[in-house]
Amino acid sequence: MFPGRKQSIADRVFWVSFHARVRLSWRKFLGFQTDYITLPFELQYPLNSQLPDPSNQTDPTKEKWRGAFVAKAVTDVGMRRSSNQDSYCITLADDREKWERSGHLLIVADGMGAHAAGELASRLSVDLIPHHYTKLNRGDPVRAILQALEEANAEIYRRGQANPEFRSMGTTTSALLILPAGAVVAHVGDSRVYRLRGQTLEQLTFDHSLVWEMRASGEVSEEALRNNAVPKNVITRSLGPNANVQVDLEGPFPVQKGDRFLLCSDGLSGQLSDEEIGVLLESLDIDMAVRAMVDLANLRGGPDNVTVIIGEVKGDDIVTQHGSSPTPPSPSQSAYPILFGVISAVCLLASVILLISYQFPFAAISLAAAVIAAVSGWVKMYSATESPADRSSKLGRGPHRKAQCKPTSAFIEQLKNLIKEMQEWVAETGVQIDQKPLEASMAAGKQAAASRDYKQAIHHYCTVLVTLMRHARAKVDVKDEDSIDY
Ligand code: CA
Repeated sequence: MFPGRKQSIADRVFWVSFHARVRLSWRKFLGFQTDYITLPFELQYPLNSQLPDPSNQTDPTKEKWRGAFVAKAVTDVGMRRSSNQDSYCITLADDREKWERSGHLLIVADGMGAHAAGELASRLSVDLIPHHYTKLNRGDPVRAILQALEEANAEIYRRGQANPEFRSMGTTTSALLILPAGAVVAHVGDSRVYRLRGQTLEQLTFDHSLVWEMRASGEVSEEALRNNAVPKNVITRSLGPNANVQVDLEGPFPVQKGDRFLLCSDGLSGQLSDEEIGVLLESLDIDMAVRAMVDLANLRGGPDNVTVIIGEVKGDDIVTQHGSSPTPPSPSQSAYPILFGVISAVCLLASVILLISYQFPFAAISLAAAVIAAVSGWVKMYSATESPADRSSKLGRGPHRKAQCKPTSAFIEQLKNLIKEMQEWVAETGVQIDQKPLEASMAAGKQAAASRDYKQAIHHYCTVLVTLMRHARAKVDVKDEDSIDY
């Protein structure tokens, strides 16, 4: 029933504990061996796996604005890995003016390479991209995010080449911009961006994986893909391994009130189906949804690092208005043709004056300069008006997949079975948990399921599941307190 699940819950909790120790010794090892790594380890993945969330930093004067779009994120090392090579960032515009210029930016990156290399690559991606995006955005956010990914790729590649330990390091990167013109995605690799509207979940990104590429090229049958004839974990594009990278741009997708956007690494999409992701995204508040998704991935074996960001459109302020231009014109670029035009006119005037003064050679040079300036200005004007979004009003071919996500009684049964397993573990290990609220939630879940209100039932059962997992983590943290000095 739960693919990939081979361990008992007690075993899995042991693995969390074991890997916490391995992780610590490895960090200490790195700390002594090299000062090249400057990652803020203590911030990256505390054992409870909840990172500081920028959207929690509320300013009363901006509360209304910030309330229009809220985002939550969790990253987790998983059950089998010794380090978390995923990174993410959430950069929300503080006010309308900033949003109209740069939008809200959410990024997930999943690093690859031997231990430190994967961590470094994904961390560089989420650090460098917002920086370059802000620097490069001169009125054309779509062009700026594309260039920001290209710049990040060049930097990760350069660092990889400079140090043998980091050679060929790479990272997937999926960046979502919520702009006045709609949602735009810049993407490389097999992390994903989804949009949920009503009960329809759409995958806005194309997986740059061998499976997806072969399916798209028609070189392999669906049956072969179902039988795992093509390895699922081979990705065909990432930031870092090569000097140049092809970045997919998708959108703009209109944004409506109530839309939920989800970004995740393959640690989630490998363990939960699109339908399950959609059902949890629709049934739960986003705080609970990020936790429940990560917990469910871990309870199904947690073979990989898991990162989930959910952004929800709650107010009208950021809803896409009809007639919004996909990319506003760039003032810095439109100035170039004028400049070249002025140079051309001055040179032309000079050539006329020189001609009257019988200075024929200089007149010819001046005339040539006027022609060159005029042609350059024309080329600049042409290239300035042809931004990526203008070449076509719609970028990319997304959405690439759609799923209808109706909560079912079968899914609820799965949740109940997991709860039963967790409760058995609680009884075995003697963890002290106040059972009264859990019993109340179980009863409420049962009643909701009986009246076929599956959404409410999922809410109640996930409340129980997340609570039990929180206690399991807390128990592991206590056991590890002696050995971990955060
Ligand atoms: Ca991964």
